[in-house]
Amino acid sequence: MRAYVAGAGLAGCECAWQLAKRGAEVTLLEMKPLSRISAHHTDFFAELCCSNSLRGEGVECAPGLLKEEMRRLESLIIRCADETRVPAGGALAVDRDGFSKAVTAAIRANPRITVIARELESLPGERPLIVATGPLTTDALARDILRVLGGEDAKALSFFDASAPLVAAESIDMQSAYFASRYGKGGGDYLNCPMDKDEYTAFWKELCGAERAQLHAFEDEAVFEGCLPVEVMAGRGPDTLRYGPLKPIGIRDPRTDKGAYAVVQLRRDNAAGSVYNLVGFQTHLTFPEQRRVFSMIPALRNAEFLRFGVMHRNSFIDSPRLLTADFQSRVSPGLYFAGQLTGVEGYIESAASGLVAGICAYSFLSGEKTPVFPPETAVGALCRYISDPGVKEFQPMNINFGLLPPLPGGTVKKGEKKGLLARRALETLGAVIPCLPKGRSSQ
Ligand SMILES: Cc1cc2nc3c(=O)[nH]c(=O)nc-3n(C[C@H](O)[C@H](O)[C@H](O)COP(=O)(O)OP(=O)(O)OC[C@H]3O[C@@H](n4cnc5c(N)ncnc54)[C@H](O)[C@@H]3O)c2cc1C
Repeated sequence: MRAYVAGAGLAGCECAWQLAKRGAEVTLLEMKPLSRISAHHTDFFAELCCSNSLRGEGVECAPGLLKEEMRRLESLIIRCADETRVPAGGALAVDRDGFSKAVTAAIRANPRITVIARELESLPGERPLIVATGPLTTDALARDILRVLGGEDAKALSFFDASAPLVAAESIDMQSAYFASRYGKGGGDYLNCPMDKDEYTAFWKELCGAERAQLHAFEDEAVFEGCLPVEVMAGRGPDTLRYGPLKPIGIRDPRTDKGAYAVVQLRRDNAAGSVYNLVGFQTHLTFPEQRRVFSMIPALRNAEFLRFGVMHRNSFIDSPRLLTADFQSRVSPGLYFAGQLTGVEGYIESAASGLVAGICAYSFLSGEKTPVFPPETAVGALCRYISDPGVKEFQPMNINFGLLPPLPGGTVKKGEKKGLLARRALETLGAVIPCLPKGRSSQ
């Protein structure tokens, strides 16, 4: 029983580990040390290319819950992170090289995993194959992935991520916001956040002067031309936004029938209506600046940002159309994808998807029933997000509580909600774990 994994990053290592742990022989194909993607600086596997933080701890924050679930699913990545942690307040941060060395050593010492140094230019024909070559997948391989998945359909694979911030619906100040559509067309689909002249002017000034994130060496300004960041648009003049995404014309507050000087529109981002995106707010500001400046919009003064806007090179496939919840191609049995390439965003999310893809690919190999991770769990919520054909404009997503189904009843006190969601997630996972394929042996 042999499986093939492409890419020894966070997702690929976790995936190979989960397969081998169940008794599968694994061939892991990785271009290091022959060459490196531009964001990498070492020859270790599971390299953290930017921050050394795996984000919040404690199950009452969504990244903490995801990590706890992965711990219970015996994740290699979380085990190595726990072993190499450094003090970081409420976050799980790691000794960068110590972490990658620990993962590399575990993979290399595993007798069932054979590492082959090779830069793939096309997808190997063997199955199951799990492709986990990350957001900076090399060009030739990316073209072949597009050929295999999309044929003529260029939308099957994006090379660039430009996403606006997302906020939690319950954190929007509804005293300062209202539902309405421009000229009353479309049934009040948008949540409008009006600003008067003084509020807009103060916001515009701060937006123009706010700190922008550094471009990486492999990104150039031209990449961003097709999709202008909101701060760049603002820099073109005080009224540019009022003729663009903040256009107030035709939008009236149904409570007062008044218009506004400028209006930020929020659009539902999930079916449950628990998450909203800021329309037209693609941005390259640093995350703290996004929080500071966008919180100047009166309705967002206490907003909880579930995801900040990003604009960077990032290859990801149009997973909702192309993958099922086990990270398998809808049209090519035994072809799986994992990691950031599937549209999960972040180190732990990438590793979590590798964990699921590894377990599911093992069931493909062994002929066992494909396990299902319910959306009430953080892991399962990611599986649902990447495979939900109802998602219209698919963008990479961090784990957040807005991805989990709401609690029944709807009368939960605000301060108790996350704890209850976390408890439900861990109980649900507890029932799933005994049903997962165990394989021939465990390590
Ligand atoms: C510049 C940048 C900064 C980021 N910063 C953060 C951050 O601070 N925090 C965070 O949570 N997330 C961050 N991310 C997002 C994401 O979490 C990471 O990119 C994460 O490493 C993705 O994991 P992965 O396993 O999907 O891919 P990777 O970890 O990138 O692993 C992919 C592996 O595939 C190999 N590979 C690529 N092409 C080929 C090929 N053709 N043949 C063989 N091997 C190949 C690579 O060498 C690499 O080892 C960042 C992303 C980028 C691009």
